[in-house]
Amino acid sequence: MAKTKYVYYFGGKKAEGDAKMKNLLGGKGANLAEMIHLGMPVPAGFTITTEVCTYYYDNGLKYPSSLESEVKKAVEKVEKEMKAEFGSMTNPLLLSVRSGARASMPGMMDTVLNLGLNDKTVKALAKNSGNERFAWDSYRRFVAMYGDVVLDLKPKTKDDIDPFEHLLDEMKESKGYKLDTELTTADLKELVKSFKDAIKKHTGKKFPEDPWEQLWGAIGAVFGSWNNERAIYYRRINGIPSEWGTAVNVQSMVYGNMGEDSGTGVAFTRDAATGENIFYGEFLMNAQGEDVVAGTRTPQQIEELKKNDIKCYNELLDIRERLEAHYRDMLDIEFTIQRGKLYMLQCRVGKRTAMASIKIAIDMVKEGLITPKEAILRIDPEQLNQLLRPVFDLKEKQNALKNGKLLAKGLNAGPGAASGKVVFNAEDAVAVSAKGEQVILVRIETSPEDITGMNAAEGILTARGGMTSHAALVARQMGKVCVAGCGALNINYRDRKFTVEKSDIVVREGDYISIDGSTGEVILGELQTKPSEVVEVLIDKTLKASDAPNYQMFAQVMEWADKYRKLGIRTNADQPDQCENAIAFGAEGIGLTRTEHMFFGEGKIGPMREMIFAFDEEGRKKALAKILPLQRIDFKGIFHVMDNKPVTIRLIDPPLHEFVPHEESGLEVVANDLGYSLSIVKDRVNQLHEFNPMLGFRGCRLGIVYPEITEMQVRAIFEAAIEVQKAGKKVFPEVMVPLVGNVKELEFQVEILHRVAKQVMKEKKTEVNYMVGTMIEVPRGAITAEKIAKVAEFCSFGTNDLTQTTLGLSRDDSGSFLPAYVQKNILDKDPFQAIDQEGVGFLMEHAVKHARKARKGIKLGICGEHGGEPSSVEYCHKIGLDYVSCSPYRVPIARLAAAHAALKHKKGKK
Ligand code: PEP
Ligand code: MG
Repeated sequence: MAKTKYVYYFGGKKAEGDAKMKNLLGGKGANLAEMIHLGMPVPAGFTITTEVCTYYYDNGLKYPSSLESEVKKAVEKVEKEMKAEFGSMTNPLLLSVRSGARASMPGMMDTVLNLGLNDKTVKALAKNSGNERFAWDSYRRFVAMYGDVVLDLKPKTKDDIDPFEHLLDEMKESKGYKLDTELTTADLKELVKSFKDAIKKHTGKKFPEDPWEQLWGAIGAVFGSWNNERAIYYRRINGIPSEWGTAVNVQSMVYGNMGEDSGTGVAFTRDAATGENIFYGEFLMNAQGEDVVAGTRTPQQIEELKKNDIKCYNELLDIRERLEAHYRDMLDIEFTIQRGKLYMLQCRVGKRTAMASIKIAIDMVKEGLITPKEAILRIDPEQLNQLLRPVFDLKEKQNALKNGKLLAKGLNAGPGAASGKVVFNAEDAVAVSAKGEQVILVRIETSPEDITGMNAAEGILTARGGMTSHAALVARQMGKVCVAGCGALNINYRDRKFTVEKSDIVVREGDYISIDGSTGEVILGELQTKPSEVVEVLIDKTLKASDAPNYQMFAQVMEWADKYRKLGIRTNADQPDQCENAIAFGAEGIGLTRTEHMFFGEGKIGPMREMIFAFDEEGRKKALAKILPLQRIDFKGIFHVMDNKPVTIRLIDPPLHEFVPHEESGLEVVANDLGYSLSIVKDRVNQLHEFNPMLGFRGCRLGIVYPEITEMQVRAIFEAAIEVQKAGKKVFPEVMVPLVGNVKELEFQVEILHRVAKQVMKEKKTEVNYMVGTMIEVPRGAITAEKIAKVAEFCSFGTNDLTQTTLGLSRDDSGSFLPAYVQKNILDKDPFQAIDQEGVGFLMEHAVKHARKARKGIKLGICGEHGGEPSSVEYCHKIGLDYVSCSPYRVPIARLAAAHAALKHKKGKK
C-alpha cells in the first residue's frame, strides 16, 4: 500500500495540490496551491492535511510517524525557494502557521505569525531588514501570540484584561505615549522581556527559543483549536461536521510592516454587501494582517492604494479579473505588499449578503460567466429570508432624525433594520434575548468569543473596524443587521454605557437603540419596522415592481427556480388573506387548511363550546347547525381566492378540550353563556381532560365518535364550493382526514364524505370535482400505506406528528431537552425543523413505494413544517413527492430549494 502523503508543498511555480483538493488541504491550502498554478505571487509554504487532524484526535493527540520527516523536507523546500534558512542566525526563514478547514470558519481557530524568531534570529532580521525597530516589533508580537495561542496565557473571563495588552498599556502609560508606533526599539526589547517573564510567571513554562520546538508547538495549537469552544459552537450553528478536521498551513512570512512601502489588505472582487461589480477592499500601510481583520485600526479604501503604490494596485486589479474569470465567482482575497512587492496570501469564494448573492449571480449570468442553473445553485434558499426582512418605517425614521435622535453613523456592514435593548457583551445578549427581548450587541470590536451573542442579537454595533472586520464578516454570514466602525462611540464596558462624541447623550445598558445596517445610521430609541421591497410589491402592493430593483432580482431568481423545479409548491393557510399572500409568493394551491383554526374566529367559539358541552347527539346537532353557516363563509372565502387551484381542507384535528377555557373565570363565562351550572361545566371539562392529548381524542377519532361533526364540515365545504363555482370560479376541494393509522378509520370517514357530498350536490343540482385523501402522520399509517392508498386518492405527510410519533418525542415538550441533544451531537438538527431522514424518512419512503403500488399516480405531498425547510424539501424531491406545502412566507424559499433539489438530483418524481 502506498504511504499516505500528509504534507503538500507550494511555492515558486510548483504546487502539489490544487483547488479541487479542499477536503484534504482545506480551503486556504487548496486555493494557495491554485493561485500558484495561475502564476500568482504566493509566498512558499506547505499544507499539513486534514487527515493529520483526524489522526491526531483519533490517536490520543499523536501525529502519524512519517509526519516529522515530511515536515522537515517541506521546510527545506521552502528554505530553498525563499533563499533563507529556518533558525539561521544570519538569514532566518520566518513562518506563519494558520488553520484552514474545508469550510471557512473565519477567526474561529488559531494563528501564529513571525514564528522562528528568538533572541538570536531577531538580530539577523534587524540586520537584513535594516530596520531594528521592525525586527523587535515583530518579535514582541510573536512572543505575545505564541504565549496566548500555544502557551495559553490569555484572559479567562470576559472582564479580564489581556495580559500582554496590559503590559503594553502599562509601558505606554509610563512613557506618556498614545500610539504603539511611538514605542522605541529599546521599549520593544523591554516588552519582549516582560512578555517572556509573564509567560514564565503565569504558566510556569519557558518561552521556547528553539524554532523547531516553536513550530511543533504552533502546529499542535492549531490542530488543538479545531476543538476550542468557539469553533465547536461555530460548527454547530453552521452544520460543519466535526470529523472534517482542519488542515495547517505553514507559510513563509512576508511583511506588511516593513515601512511605508509595505502594507496589507483584504478585498472582495465585488461589493459583498450590495453585490455591485466594483473592487471593494481595505488596506493599511505599514501593518500586519491582523491589524486589518481585527479592526484595531480603521483602514483605507482600496482605491487609495493607487496613491501609495500604483504598480501593486494595477497588479491587484489584474489578479481580481483573472481570479473571477478562473473561479467564475466573487472572491475574497488577502494580500501583503513587502517593500513594493505584492504577495497573495489567500483567496476564497467570498461570503455575501442575500442581496449580494442574488445580484452577483444575476450579473454573472448577464456577463456570460455562469449559467442560470449555476446562478440558482449559488443562492442559499434560506438567504431569501433576508429579502423578506423588515426595514424601518421611513417616516418614523425621518422624524427621529429630525428630532436629533441620530447618534452616529458607522459602516453599513449588514443590511436590514434592527431595534432593541443595548447589551455590552455576548453573555448578556444571550441571557436577555432568551427572555424574549430584542437586543443590540454593542462592542468596541467583536472577536470570535462573541459569536453566541451575535447570534442571539437582532443587530450588532461596533465602534472599530471596517467592512471586512470580524463583526462585519460574521454578521453578514449570519444574516444579522450590523453597523461597524462607528468611531464616534465611546464605549465603557465597566459602567455599561456609551457616550457619543460631541454630544452629552449617555446610552446605558437596557436603553433602546435602532440601527440601520443599510445606511450605517445609529438612532436613539425604538423604531417601527416596515416590510421589505419584495413584500411591498407582492403583499402590500404599495410599490410598483418597475420601481423596485431588488424585487426585480428576486423575481428573476424565482422565474429561474420555477423553470427547473419539479416539486409543486403549496401553502398551509387558513384564511383568505394568508391565501392571497401565499399566491403572491408563488403558491400553486393549498396543501393544508387547518379547519380548527377557524373555530376561534368571530362568533364561532360559542356554538363550538355548545357542541362540546352537549349531552347527546341532538344537542350536538343543534350546535353544529349554528356552526355550519359560519364554516361555509370561511370556505367560500378561501375557494374564492384560490380560484382554479387545489385546496386541501383537513377535517377537524385537535382534542376538543383545546376549545374550552381552563381558568375559573373562563368557565363561569361558559356556564353563563350555555345556561349550565358551574359544576356541570367543571364536570364536563374534567371528563374532557386527557393525560396525553396529542395521542388522545383527536384527529379522525373525533369524526368517528361524533360523525355529525364530519357531516357538518363536509356539508359546509360542498355548499361553499358550489356557491363559488356558481359565481364563475373553478374549485378543486381535496378533503383530508387526519391522523389515520388504520384504513378502516379512513373508510368510515370516506363513507360519510361521499354520502354528504353527493347529497349536497344533488340538493344544489351541481357537480363538483373533488378528491378524498388522508394525512400520513402516524407510523401505522405509513406502514400500511398500501391499504390506505386503495381508499385515499391523495396522501399528505404530516411530518410534525409523524416525527413526534416515530421518535416518541412530544411536540410540545421537546423544547426542554432537544437543544441538549443537538448540542451534544446526538442529533445533527432539530427533527421538528429538518426531517429525520433515517427514521421518519424510512417510513416516508416505505409509504411512497407502497402507496404508488396500490394506486399508480397517487398524489403525494407533505404539509408538516418541514415542507419549507431546504434540506427537507430536497429530500421530498428525492423520494418523489408531488408537492411540498409550507407557510406563505416560506413559499419563495421552498421554490428555490425545490429548484436546487431538481438540479442536484435528476431523480425526483417517478
Ligand atoms: C402534521 O402533523 O405535520 C400536520 C401538518 O398537522 P398538525 O401540525 O396540524 O398536527
Ligand atoms: Mg398533525
